[in-house]
Amino acid sequence: MTPVTYARASLVGDAVRMGGAQGARLLGGGTNLVDLMRKGVEQPSQLIDVTALSDSIKQADDGSLMIGAAASNSAVAAHPLVRSHYPMLARAILAGASAQIRNMATVGGNLMQRTRCLYFNDVAGSRCNKRAPGSGCDAIGGFNRYHAILGGSEACIATHPSDMCVALAALDAQVHIAGPDGARVVPLVDLHRLPGERPDVETVLDPSEIIVAIALPASPLFAKSTYRKVRDRASYAFALVSVAAGLTIHQGGIDDIRVAFGGIAPKPWRAFQIEAALRGGALSAAAIEAAFEAEFAGAALLPGNGFKHGLAKRTLSALLLDLAGDVQ
Ligand SMILES: Cc1cc2nc3c(=O)[nH]c(=O)nc-3n(C[C@H](O)[C@H](O)[C@H](O)COP(=O)(O)OP(=O)(O)OC[C@H]3O[C@@H](n4cnc5c(N)ncnc54)[C@H](O)[C@@H]3O)c2cc1C
Ligand code: SF4
Repeated sequence: MTPVTYARASLVGDAVRMGGAQGARLLGGGTNLVDLMRKGVEQPSQLIDVTALSDSIKQADDGSLMIGAAASNSAVAAHPLVRSHYPMLARAILAGASAQIRNMATVGGNLMQRTRCLYFNDVAGSRCNKRAPGSGCDAIGGFNRYHAILGGSEACIATHPSDMCVALAALDAQVHIAGPDGARVVPLVDLHRLPGERPDVETVLDPSEIIVAIALPASPLFAKSTYRKVRDRASYAFALVSVAAGLTIHQGGIDDIRVAFGGIAPKPWRAFQIEAALRGGALSAAAIEAAFEAEFAGAALLPGNGFKHGLAKRTLSALLLDLAGDVQ
């Protein structure tokens, strides 16, 4: 490991100033960054600890829920307002990692965690355009069971590993960002980029910007929501496919609906086409299948990951039909 200095920021302005320095990286719980430093994927010269920034979870006057970026994954999942008003978020977080990791991991770190692509992590032996731009991608012709079927490119087919972000995408979460030029707010669905020709540029965040909070709008729909994750082991494994969904039903038809997928794309995948196709109609297995096929029309299936197409369809169908039974 290369020598690294450590400093703790207790004010957002200090974190922005110190985090924007050459070679600096923000440190949340360290559950991803420190791993990557051990492997030589990340080689920062300065670590700026941001865990002393806001970790508060509280309701704003308009009913939305503000969650500080330093809140631990465990604290968010256990919060009574999250459990009652946004159950899909609590379920998504609890489906990820282990209790010990969730106690350490922060909201900001979860949003910004890097892909678990094996070749990305193999500094010594593999080509990876995300880690070393222009070097090639060993996943495309290699072991790609965990890789993307939507949104990938010829340069990279890595998936975004977060469970929390899939729920946040479905919940219309807004990401509050601070930087040298002031504050801005970005919808979670626009935070992560698709790889295109630059898989190394993963988000719309400037290197000198930091995430300070996320805001969840209030909606009766979100209280009728859930999350289902399909994985190779029953726990402590990343998603092959996951679905976050919520819906409300009025007079037998879908009044409103939110759907997002994990494990199938380089970013949390909000399924706007599925939502538009199902909104206003009666829910049936045939309607779900037609909506799914429209959303996944551009899927690029490889020998190792083609199974995800059918798995995602079956998971979506089972989840929506279960939800509809619960909310009627
Ligand atoms: C064995 C294992 C299994 C796991 N399984 C799952 C799983 O199934 N599902 C899942 O969702 N996650 C899983 N995780 C991931 C875990 O949830 C993440 O490691 C964690 O959320 C990262 O949070 P952290 O605070 O430790 O981030 P860190 O490791 O501290 O940082 C991660 C990245 O975020 C950046 N960062 C941190 N804070 C901010 C901020 N405020 N603003 C901008 N950038 C910031 C850092 O610079 C770094 O680039 C697993 C992790 C491990 C080690
Ligand atoms: S899929 Fe992306 S992260 Fe994995 S090896 Fe290819 S370029 Fe690297």
